[in-house]
Amino acid sequence: MNDPELQALLDAIAVHGKTAKGGLNRLAASREEGAARDELGAWLRAREFGIRVDSVGNLFATLELAGKDAPWVLTGSHLDSQPHGGRFDGAYGVIGACVAADRIRRTSAGGFRRNLAVVSWTNEEGARFAPSLLGSGVYAGQYEAAFARSRSDAAGITLGEALQAIGYSGSDQGPADPACYVELHIEQGPALERAGATIGVVEGNWGTVKFIVRFEGRAAHTGPTAMAERRDALLAAGHAIVACRALSDRTGGALLSSVGRLDIAPNSTNIVAGSVDLYAEFRAIDPAMLEGACAAFERAAAEAAEVAGVALSITRPTDRPAGTFDPSMRALIEAEAKRKGYRSLRLDTVAGHDAIQLRRRCPSAMIFVPSAAGISHNEEEFTLSEDLAAGVDVLEGVLRSLLSAAT
Ligand SMILES: [Zn+2]
Repeated sequence: MNDPELQALLDAIAVHGKTAKGGLNRLAASREEGAARDELGAWLRAREFGIRVDSVGNLFATLELAGKDAPWVLTGSHLDSQPHGGRFDGAYGVIGACVAADRIRRTSAGGFRRNLAVVSWTNEEGARFAPSLLGSGVYAGQYEAAFARSRSDAAGITLGEALQAIGYSGSDQGPADPACYVELHIEQGPALERAGATIGVVEGNWGTVKFIVRFEGRAAHTGPTAMAERRDALLAAGHAIVACRALSDRTGGALLSSVGRLDIAPNSTNIVAGSVDLYAEFRAIDPAMLEGACAAFERAAAEAAEVAGVALSITRPTDRPAGTFDPSMRALIEAEAKRKGYRSLRLDTVAGHDAIQLRRRCPSAMIFVPSAAGISHNEEEFTLSEDLAAGVDVLEGVLRSLLSAAT
C-alpha cells in the first residue's frame, strides 16, 4: 500500500539538489543540503518537534514523550548524497523516521518510558569531506568535534565553515543518554528483491579498510625525457590498481576491492605524472581474509613503487571492523515485520552506515527495504512506493516497542 504523507515529504525534500535525471547532487553542508534541512525543519516545527543542532551539524528532532530525564530512542540517517546519487539513500531513513515519529506523537495516549529523537547525521557519505560517517562518529565518540570541523573539501573549505554558511553550526548537544538507535535504509543491493522479501533484518556489517597510497615521482616533459630517467607516479598507480583487483579475483569475489579515485599532479597530457594519490578499499565479512588482503596490498604497492622508481607512503584512514547489530533489536524488527504480514530476510550490509558508528555508544539495529535491481549511489536508484511504506510501518511499530521498554 502507498503512503501519501511519506511520498509527499520525500518528493518535497528531493527537490533540493535534484539532478536532470531525477537523482540527487546534495553534498554534505552544501547550499542544497542546507535547503533540505530548512524544509524538513519547517515540517518538524509545525508538528511540535524540538530542534537541536550540535557543533558538527547533526540535527536532532526531539519529542519528549517521557520527561526530560528519561533516556532516548534515536532513529534517523543522513540527508547528504554522493555527487550523482539517488534520492532514497539516507533521505528515506530521515524522512521515514520523521513520518513514523509524527504518527506516534499524534496517535499515542502516552505511557512511554523513553523519549524519541529523529537524527540527520552530517557527512555520512564522505563525498565532500573525508572520512565518511563523520557526524555520527562524533556523537558515538570516535572523533572529536574539532577534528570533524577541521576536515576540508577539495576547495579548502572546512566542514565548520560550510556549516556556518548554511546556518547549521550549532551549539546544542545531542541527547546525552541514548537507549538505542534504529536506522531505516534502502538495501543498496539485490538480495531482498531476489528473495521476494520486503523487510531486511540486518545482522551485521562487513569489515572495510580504506587506504590512501601516495606515489611521489618527478614531473618531467613527456618528450625529451629518456624513458630510463622517468619516475612516473602514474605508472606505479597503474600497477597498484591491477594488484588491488587481483587480490579480489584470488578469493573468487569473497573479498571486494576497488580503486575509485586518483589525484594526479600535475595531470597534464604532456607531463610525466609527478605524484599520484590513489584511494583503494577492501571489504570482507571474514576479518582474516580482510587483514591478509591489506598486508598483500601494502606489499604490492611497495613493488609498484619500485618498478616505477618512485617513493611511497601509505595511510589507512578508515578501518571499520566487521560486527553484528544488537540481537534483541534484530528479533524485535523480525517479529514486527511478521506481525504486520511482511516477508523478511536476514542479511548483512556491505556498505557503511551511521548505525555502525552508533553501535559504539548504544545498542543499534537496521531495517532495510528493497532497492530495484540493487542499484545505488546512482541517479537510477529506485524503491517501490509500497516497499517504502512498509519500511516506515515496521519502523513505527519497532519504535513504539522501544519507547515502551523498561529501562
Ligand atoms: Zn546511506
